[in-house]
Amino acid sequence: MDIEKGKYWDVAWNPMVGCSKVSAGCRNCWAEKMARRMQGIAQRNLDQFMHRDFDGTAKYFGTVNEKGWTGYVRLEEDEIDKPLKWRKPRIVATCWMGDMFHYNGDALDVYRVLDSMERFGRPFDDWGNRWLGSDGFVKPHTFLVLTKRPERMREIVGAWLAGYAHENKRAEIDHIWFGVSVEDQKSADERLPHLQALKGVRPNMNTWVSVEPMLGSVVLYEYLDGIGQVVCGGETGPGSRPLVPVREFGLRMQCLGMRVPYFFKSWGGGKKDRRVDGVTWDDLAWV
Ligand code: SF4
Repeated sequence: MDIEKGKYWDVAWNPMVGCSKVSAGCRNCWAEKMARRMQGIAQRNLDQFMHRDFDGTAKYFGTVNEKGWTGYVRLEEDEIDKPLKWRKPRIVATCWMGDMFHYNGDALDVYRVLDSMERFGRPFDDWGNRWLGSDGFVKPHTFLVLTKRPERMREIVGAWLAGYAHENKRAEIDHIWFGVSVEDQKSADERLPHLQALKGVRPNMNTWVSVEPMLGSVVLYEYLDGIGQVVCGGETGPGSRPLVPVREFGLRMQCLGMRVPYFFKSWGGGKKDRRVDGVTWDDLAWV
């Protein structure tokens, strides 16, 4: 993890890919641009080497075209067990090349991703090996889930947990952080009540909020109770919209007041220095 550069996860894992734009925060979607690049690489592999896939790029076929996301969302079978290969516990950005709770994704595919994450929360992996952190305690991977469609996350995760309860089992989810992305007050008011409702199903569930790109002021007091982490950041890439410092200040003060860990990722717009008045805000609950 390269915290100095504002990176708060170790590795990306994308068993489900694909999306379509849902709100103002999606306008300069980074994942969409990356998916187009990947699809271009996959097409070259196919043209030059008559080979479907050298590097996992072929999974983006169909998810993007020259106009951007097509709305096609799919599961890549080969990726499902990938975290098993990582012997050291990692912080995993999960399905950030799209939205795993997009309505075009098959709920059964989402269950498979959830099941896969759940497995890594158990003390033993499939070969009976114990997950051990450097402190000698059992330590699984940590998965960071993020969506702009929390109403579907609430529905699917709620049903998935109920499925375990139905079999008299308890899903292990202490290592999974369920997150919602918002960009302004309107999106916060629409989305965060669903995160709160999901938390009602399992009160000690880890939840977080990403305010990135921050496009407007947000007052989150009524939603922050029980939230384990807030991340804030500006927009990057061509055409990026500026992050207004006073808005960041307002959000930071709310988090400090409510004792919610606050991580400031970056100002965006190509600015490398991520300090605020000379200091960085690197409080991360999952580290
Ligand atoms: S929801 Fe996320 S991945 Fe999908 S278009 Fe919006 S920003 Fe991109």
